[in-house]
Amino acid sequence: MLDLELKLLLVEDDPEDKEIFERMLSKINGLKYDVKWCSNFSEGKGEVLNNHYDVIFMDYRLGEGDGVTLLRYAKENDCQTPIIFLSSEKGREIYKEIKQWGALNYLNKGEITPDHLAIAIDYAIEIAAQYQLLRDIAAHDGLTGLYNHREAHVLIDKEIGRARRYNTALSLIMLDIDYFKNINDTFGHLVGDQVLQWLAGLIKKSSRSCDINGRYGGEEFAIILPETTGDSAYKKAESLRKLIENEQYTDGCINLSITVSIGIAELSNDDTKMTFIEKADKALYCSKSKGRNCVCYEKHDAN
Ligand code: GH3
Ligand code: MG
Ligand code: MG
Ligand code: MG
Repeated sequence: MLDLELKLLLVEDDPEDKEIFERMLSKINGLKYDVKWCSNFSEGKGEVLNNHYDVIFMDYRLGEGDGVTLLRYAKENDCQTPIIFLSSEKGREIYKEIKQWGALNYLNKGEITPDHLAIAIDYAIEIAAQYQLLRDIAAHDGLTGLYNHREAHVLIDKEIGRARRYNTALSLIMLDIDYFKNINDTFGHLVGDQVLQWLAGLIKKSSRSCDINGRYGGEEFAIILPETTGDSAYKKAESLRKLIENEQYTDGCINLSITVSIGIAELSNDDTKMTFIEKADKALYCSKSKGRNCVCYEKHDAN
């Protein structure tokens, strides 16, 4: 069993069943835990999306609502916490139903022992950690550690949704290294790779914690700036451009400087994800055609 104190959420409408569950937990040797109890559907709804639980236990029948609806709500809202169902009804049917909505496991209330519970918790935590690892690997670029192209699209979509919901600004920076092919041709591909890593480090260092940095393609980067107008994004991009121009990559033998071309777009009411990205891309190509090492903002420059 884990040495840390586990945070468990129990959504259970029957106080007696809650007592039994807690008694079982208390009999698991060496388990340190804290249980938050929600006694009905709406309390459960208010808690399932709180990311700080290690495992959620959910009753199948919940009075005015049911566990399956709560499970669906949790999963549709991106709940990553493992969910184990509890029911006094036996049956593969329940298991099949909850499994298709993303529950991890099912325990029959009448058959739970402290051993069963301990194994179920252990398994849930292990599987959740493995899922998290896989999600991280799938979302990040292996060379730079930034979000990859696919995840950048997912996050742009999410941020557009958020900007629309809260009526806030959203901007996008597209940044491409100038004449990067020359670096590969002159110093070799491995040095090229290291330059990409070094640049990713500079981008991270100059970011706020809410900025989202992605490697959009080979030597092209996308920076999503929540709650940022195009004019502020322009200023940020200009200072990043200067920083990159003035810093030097070195591996002890080779010293080299690079420049980047940047395009900015601000989300407008009628933008889709694709038109938003296209505006930033168009602005980037405007920077390239102006001679590189500069920033263009679609509002000022692209046509
Ligand atoms: P421009 O100023 O027009 O952007 O010129 P460029 O040379 O930067 O652009 P081009 O598209 O001609 O070449 C991009 C190069 O980036 C070619 C490709 O081999 C290189 N590249 C893409 N991904 C990687 C990578 O992961 N590692 C390395 N070392 N090179 C890469
Ligand atoms: Mg019940
Ligand atoms: Mg380039
Ligand atoms: Mg490119």
